[in-house]
Amino acid sequence: MVTKIDHIGIAVKNLEETLKFYEEVLGIKSVGTEVVEEQKVKVAFLPIGDTEVELLESTDEDGPIAKFIEKRGEGIQHIAYRVDNIEEAIERLKEKGIRLIDEKPRYGAGGAKIAFLHPKSTFGVLIELCERD
Ligand code: ZN
Repeated sequence: MVTKIDHIGIAVKNLEETLKFYEEVLGIKSVGTEVVEEQKVKVAFLPIGDTEVELLESTDEDGPIAKFIEKRGEGIQHIAYRVDNIEEAIERLKEKGIRLIDEKPRYGAGGAKIAFLHPKSTFGVLIELCERD
């Protein structure tokens, strides 16, 4: 069902400062930023090999990233697995009794179709499924 790690999502307080570290210290260049209103985040994408780091800064103090940082501090927030057909993947997970945050795919940064699985069903990791054209 899963074909690769699409990206690793990292929650940060300040996207500009974090980008300086990634670009100037690690030498990983951002290919752009996008605001995803629905998730109250500003996202930067940093491709590395055939995967990406996704840096996420909250645009709202009530957003999921702001809440994550409040509870757990900055750090890895989710891992996104690439799937070829997200609707099929969701159906399969439902049949297996896996708890989902999104029962239907929603819009993700970069035009992806995404859905989150509940960490209670995934041994503590927030998993995102991600389908791209
Ligand atoms: Zn993501």
